[in-house]
This record gives sequence, C-alpha cells and structure tokens, in this order.
Amino acid sequence: MVKTIDGKKVAAEVISECATELAELQARGIKPGLAVVLIGDDPASQVYVSSKVRKCAELGMHSEKIVLSKEATQEEVLKVVERLNHDDLIHGILVQSPPPPQIDEDAIIRAIDPSKDVDGFHPENVAKLALEDPTGFVACTPAGCMRLIEAAGVETNGAEVVVVGRSMIVGKPMALLLMARGADATVTVAHSRTKNLAEVCRRADILVAAVGRPEMITAEFVKDGATVIDVGINRVEDSSKAKGYRLCGDVAFDEVAAKCGQITPVPGGVGPMTIAMLIKNTIKAARLKS
Ligand code: NDP
Repeated sequence: MVKTIDGKKVAAEVISECATELAELQARGIKPGLAVVLIGDDPASQVYVSSKVRKCAELGMHSEKIVLSKEATQEEVLKVVERLNHDDLIHGILVQSPPPPQIDEDAIIRAIDPSKDVDGFHPENVAKLALEDPTGFVACTPAGCMRLIEAAGVETNGAEVVVVGRSMIVGKPMALLLMARGADATVTVAHSRTKNLAEVCRRADILVAAVGRPEMITAEFVKDGATVIDVGINRVEDSSKAKGYRLCGDVAFDEVAAKCGQITPVPGGVGPMTIAMLIKNTIKAARLKS
C-alpha cells in the first residue's frame, strides 16, 4: 500500500528540535534573529513572508520584516541588505524571491553576508555545499527534501535518483546533497532538454520533481515502488474552489500514488519543510557567531 510522507509531521519534529536548541541558546543569552525583505506586493510572496515571521514569533526568536515598494531601486535594496549585514541582532537575512523585474536578484544575493545567508543562495554557500563543507548553509527546500527522505526510512546509499529540474534553489543543490558522501546516491539530473524523460525517470528508486509544471509527472514516469518527492507548488484554475484555484504539485498524485511506494502530497509535503529548515539555518547562523 502506498504511504504518504507527512511533511507537516516531519516539519513539526524539526521545529521541536529548533525549540530545544533555542532554549539552550537563550540560556547563554543568545537570541537568533531573522530579517525577511519583501519587495513589492506579490500575494504568494506576502503569504510566505508572513508565515516565516510568524514562525519566528511563535518560537520566541527575534525577527524583522522589511517591506519595500514594488518600485524600489537596486540601490534601496542594497542599502537595506548592507544595514542588516551590520545588525548584530540579525543572524539570518532572506530577500523573498522573486523580486520585481528592475531588481538584479543575483547581485542582491551576492551582497548578503555569506554568514547570514540562511537561504543558502550565496556563491560561497553553494561552493561549500559542493565541497561538502558543513559550515555552509544549504538551501532550505532541498535540505527539507533530504530530511523527508530520511524520515520516510528510504535508503539513499547506492540508490538511483532522478532529479527533474536544475534550478539553483532546488534541482542543483538537491543533486549535490544526494551525491554527497553519506547520502551516496547515484544521481541523474534531468531538465527541459532531456530526451526520453519518462524513460529516464523510470530508472529512479527516488524521483524528485522540481519542474513547476502542474501534474506533469504521470504514472508512466514512475517505477513500481519508487519514492516520489514532489517539490512543485502550482496554482491551477478551479472554479469549484472559493479562491478560484487549487494548489497542486508537479506530480499527478492519484495515478502516481497507485504505483509508487511513498509520495509527498501537495500541499502538506515539501512545503512545510522549507520554513522549518529556514529556522534551523537561522539558529545555525547564530551558533556559528557565538
Ligand atoms: P525553475 O523554473 O527555476 O526550474 C524548473 C526546472 O524544470 C528547470 O531546470 C527546467 O529546465 C525544468 N523543466 C521545465 N520544463 C520541463 C520539462 N517539460 N521537462 C523537464 N524539465 C523541465 O523552478 P524552481 O526550481 O524554482 O521550482 C520548481 C517548482 O518547485 C515550482 O513549482 C516551484 O513553485 C516549486 N518550489 C517549491 C518550494 C517549496 O517550498 N515547496 C520552494 C521552491 C520552489 P531548464 O533548466 O532546461 O529550463
């Protein structure tokens, strides 16, 4: 019988570990702080930013939410980042993606002090991930996927893994984590130019979908008994819903669930893990500074 991997439950476990660590740090007079910068008024970004700040408050962490107008200039954003780089109350800085088109996101990421880059996007942290240097910060979503695979009791050592998607925030770091010593998977990274994608995916003991295309991964992409991690969060028009849309992943859940061994749902799979890993990274940043 197929088993759903419960992201909410695993995220709650991570948050509970964080609460223990926070109590320990608090006893030493250390209060980890996270600054979240939102540029513009994208509704999905507003929701993400609010939930990150809310989670910090729930845990008794320091947090700061900085909202800039959608007309903000590159210089304005850089000035905010510079101020936060020098603010001792702030251990982690996150600039919510995507920024408006006039903003050069790469330049903003490079301006963040790598020791406060809790999103793990700065080139120094990407290099540390590739070098398997544990002092770096790993991007939150792939780190969360690794934790889900572990919690599901799925063996990565020697497993054939296919990651569909090669973005810097999901696909590439995911592949690096899976091939690292300790995880020891054999990793194939597929993308929009991959030939015979369904055939490639069917090799996978563990299939990670990070494509951004609603329900693209159908049963024909999946080997019997495989573990399927669905990173996708897509809004699909649905007039039967009050909001006029429903959320779905990159995987056609029902037909794939009928064939695979374990699968993450959307919502309630990878999504909750991202915030949990962000909190974990912020605590790590505070620890490294102490
Ligand atoms: P990107 O758009 O940056 O990357 C998508 C990747 O998928 C690219 O590498 C692209 O290939 C590949 N791709 C696109 N179309 C196809 C296709 N037809 N066949 C094979 N590969 C294809 O997306 P992200 O990595 O940022 O996000 C992926 C998904 O994950 C999205 O739904 C996003 O919303 C979600 N997400 C969820 C998070 C969470 O917290 N759960 C966090 C971050 C993202 P190419 O490089 O050739 O263009």
